[in-house]
Amino acid sequence: MEYVIGIDLGTTNSCVAVVQNGVPTVLPNRQGYKTTPSMIAMTETKKRLVGHLAKRQSITNAEFTVYAAKRLIGRKWNSEPIKQVLKSASFKLVEGPHQDVRIELRDRSYAVPEISAMVLSEMKAIAEEYLGQEVHKAVITVPAYFNDNQRQATKDAGMIAGLEVIRIINEPTAAALAYGFGRRLDKQVAVYDLGGGTFDISVLEMSSDGVFKVISTAGDTFLGGEDWDTRIIDWLVDGFKSEHGVDLRGDRMALQRLKDAAEKAKIELSQQRETEVNLPFIITSGRNEALHLQRVLTRAEFEQLTGDLVQRTVDIMDQTLDDAGIGRDEIEDVVLVGGMTRVPSIERAVAQFFGREPSKGVHPDEVVALGAAIQGAALVEQGNKMILLDVTPHTLGVMVAGGATEPLIPQNTTVPTARTRTFTTSRDNQTAVKILVMQGEHERGADNELLGEFILDGLRRAPAGSIEIDVTFDINADGIVSVRAKDLETGRDQSITVAATSGLTKDEIRSMVEEGKRFAVDRKAGEEFEAKRQEVEGLIHEVEKMFVPVEKVVGSSDFGRDALERARGVIERARQAVSKKDVMLLKEQSDALSRTLRVFKGVVART
Ligand code: AMP
Repeated sequence: MEYVIGIDLGTTNSCVAVVQNGVPTVLPNRQGYKTTPSMIAMTETKKRLVGHLAKRQSITNAEFTVYAAKRLIGRKWNSEPIKQVLKSASFKLVEGPHQDVRIELRDRSYAVPEISAMVLSEMKAIAEEYLGQEVHKAVITVPAYFNDNQRQATKDAGMIAGLEVIRIINEPTAAALAYGFGRRLDKQVAVYDLGGGTFDISVLEMSSDGVFKVISTAGDTFLGGEDWDTRIIDWLVDGFKSEHGVDLRGDRMALQRLKDAAEKAKIELSQQRETEVNLPFIITSGRNEALHLQRVLTRAEFEQLTGDLVQRTVDIMDQTLDDAGIGRDEIEDVVLVGGMTRVPSIERAVAQFFGREPSKGVHPDEVVALGAAIQGAALVEQGNKMILLDVTPHTLGVMVAGGATEPLIPQNTTVPTARTRTFTTSRDNQTAVKILVMQGEHERGADNELLGEFILDGLRRAPAGSIEIDVTFDINADGIVSVRAKDLETGRDQSITVAATSGLTKDEIRSMVEEGKRFAVDRKAGEEFEAKRQEVEGLIHEVEKMFVPVEKVVGSSDFGRDALERARGVIERARQAVSKKDVMLLKEQSDALSRTLRVFKGVVART
């Protein structure tokens, strides 16, 4: 009998399950744990360690221990997320030959899928040991929000690990499968998934005839448990600095210990009302005396430090339901996924949002792997009628003249699907158009991902706007996109099937995008950006004006210097957002500037 294993390849932990005699079961590793840290390490003697073994030595071998590779997978070296990771990673990241990300470990560098493959191999080995036979096939889960590159890179990782990845499915879909397994439910459920590195919210419709339909899905690939940990680290570091005048940030070893202690404190606060962080000999002072870190963190303080992070998940939920036109009261059950949903303030926020207690029946750490195993079994079983209807996680469209993206298939459209739209030429006597296929929600094309491009030529010379071209997007059940452009006058057409873009370099993409603008079809754009830019520039000016009065009032205190420093950071980031021409970033920075301005005005008003 051939087994298909289901693997939840998590940011922090991974989990493997299989359906045995009709019963989905999570498989324990050699140490008896049902989840395995998604960590790998290379020892001095070039021995490879995975999972608990890697985690156990991560403090003493921080430079050669890799964690949270999921945050890196399928990403370009120049991308914002990688810049973020670079700020805090204890291991060494370098640029790869395709502007991809490589990790240096001892004598060589590894591509990210190679690192993830090491974790997947471990999961495969756990299953093989448990089942007593070789395993070749797997279903692997990814966050619903992963784009094509990230999915493809995950698939590559499976291949490197010697697995045939028969399907990649979305984590929330897997969770809903496990939740609904064998229960014949007709229900609309929400899946709130907050793990170590990513947040997802999805709404699914389950019907008793075995159809699972994703209605809507959204998330943030850069919001997770680590951000909660970082808040605790910042609080500890800031406190230590004001007490001893020593900044722990410069010390790698200290930071690694802080990271562990912060996570431990967070987990303890899920059970207890307060916890003590105790790190003796954290660093030596300039006068060569050993300094110790000891501080008590209460749950209330922790909730205050992280309230805005919880709120971010609530805002995304709100937006997702709004976009899908679903009322909160229409959700009949809420499934919690991910270790972070054990944090009381998160559970409370979700319960409050939906006006009902989340379902307690499923184990948040295991539910995704179980769902993947259920899907795996269904795919190879004869006569299994279970159907999964997924949606496109990102908007697909074409870039038009002026550089905007014109969406054809909106985010959260059920696949398979096809859409056609008519465009016109943008210049007089234009004999060819370039169709740039874009993926993403940004209005500005350059901010989205270029999936592919092709040219439709042989158009009749005519004034701008008089030649009509039909562009059709088609997505099949596997999520593969094909695009066709047709000259309505002559019937001439051109088409491509889009493959994942991992082979394209950023420069290639950029030059294609630039070149494309000269050929493309017409539409005006950029108004929203321009309005936001003006607003942000105005706010920067106002905040800057406040520096002198604020400095006068609080410049001599640690709090004041800290606030001023932070404000400089906010301004810096806002300027970067302007130069990057990113509307979403601008919106965030505009909020941050407004908050800073309120604080400054408060400070001055109080004196
Ligand atoms: P996952 O990616 O689902 O494995 O979730 C891992 C995240 O959940 C990490 O950030 C953990 O620190 C966090 N986590 C695990 N257990 C708990 C707990 N009992 N309380 C709070 N956070 C937890």
